[in-house]
Amino acid sequence: MSLNVQRAVQLAPFNTFGVAATAEHFVQVHSDAELVEALALATERGWPVQVIGGGSNLLLSADVPGLVVRMASLGKRIVREEAGQVLVEACAGEPWHPFVQWSLAQGLVGLENLSLIPGTVGAAPMQNVGAYGVEVKDVFASLAALDRHSGEVHELAGEACAFGYRDSVFKQQPGRWVILRVRFALARQAPLHLDYGPIRERLALLGIEQPTALDVSQAICAIRQEKLPDPAVLGNAGSFFKNPVVPAAQAEALKARYPGLPSYPAGPGQAKLAAGWLIDQAGWRGHRDGAVGVHVHQALVLVNHGGGTGQQVLALAQRIQASVQARFGVSLEMEPNLL
Ligand SMILES: Cc1cc2nc3c(=O)[nH]c(=O)nc-3n(C[C@H](O)[C@H](O)[C@H](O)COP(=O)(O)OP(=O)(O)OC[C@H]3O[C@@H](n4cnc5c(N)ncnc54)[C@H](O)[C@@H]3O)c2cc1C
Repeated sequence: MSLNVQRAVQLAPFNTFGVAATAEHFVQVHSDAELVEALALATERGWPVQVIGGGSNLLLSADVPGLVVRMASLGKRIVREEAGQVLVEACAGEPWHPFVQWSLAQGLVGLENLSLIPGTVGAAPMQNVGAYGVEVKDVFASLAALDRHSGEVHELAGEACAFGYRDSVFKQQPGRWVILRVRFALARQAPLHLDYGPIRERLALLGIEQPTALDVSQAICAIRQEKLPDPAVLGNAGSFFKNPVVPAAQAEALKARYPGLPSYPAGPGQAKLAAGWLIDQAGWRGHRDGAVGVHVHQALVLVNHGGGTGQQVLALAQRIQASVQARFGVSLEMEPNLL
């Protein structure tokens, strides 16, 4: 086995923002053995390591020193099926949406609301990806991850992953864990989650009264295609800020001043506010700073119109954060991982 470690690799094709940055060294790994070999090489040479998947939740603000390891391990299977409960497993490098489609083609229910999220299976637990009322933690069984501190592979169940809103132990301990394979608990039959956003309206529009999981997936794909810019056309990393969670009293006070502000209960004494609404109200939707800007239809999405740099995106993000803080007293946290 010999790794194809390349020098001075341009990362623009490997991040959905499409910003230019050079990896000092770059390697794609297709198996656990190749990953171990790449990490050993990095240790030997004293290179820092940065693991990436599909690059759809990254902001590259500078060239990346050391070794960028892109997870490219493929494979997915049904591990076992018992009384309609089906355990499936996929390797980290599997592209997420084709994996969701594969699960639906097997007649399995559970992943449909997470359709059309870019990226890889291995990155999905990283920020507990979520959409349309479902998060990965809701269908998560376990994962295998390499602990770079000990060099051992661990099997982690949900509790050990400390999943939260766009959060997990992997996000809290950056650089420690490399996720190798993820297992999901799906089912032949299960209740569908139709109450979030315009899912029901879209299904009604299509004349579907008794939807299947596949119908839900197709409805969500259609909604997402209308709402979100396609990174292949306009560089972006999806939602750029998390929806801020604030004390319920602060949310109430804000709602008294701004009755249109969407807010949702978020655990005892807390409320989640819609970051997109705050940014929109602060006047940023459609704003353009040279090559970078805020999407014209979706204030939560920062975009690269072409030729923008990560530094420019970051500078715009910081101006938005300052303006939302000044106007509403709310701090916005970036969702993409800054490299
Ligand atoms: C148009 C668009 C829409 C989006 N919609 C959503 C959405 O609805 N919901 C949502 O939650 N997210 C959404 N995202 C964000 C993104 O798609 C997800 O976070 C996705 O899981 C990132 O996967 P990736 O493989 O591209 O990860 P990358 O961007 O490559 O990496 C993200 C982070 O995960 C780490 N990482 C990647 N692979 C591994 C691994 N195998 N082991 C350990 N660490 C790893 C990286 O180091 C980095 O810190 C969207 C993005 C875009 C561009």
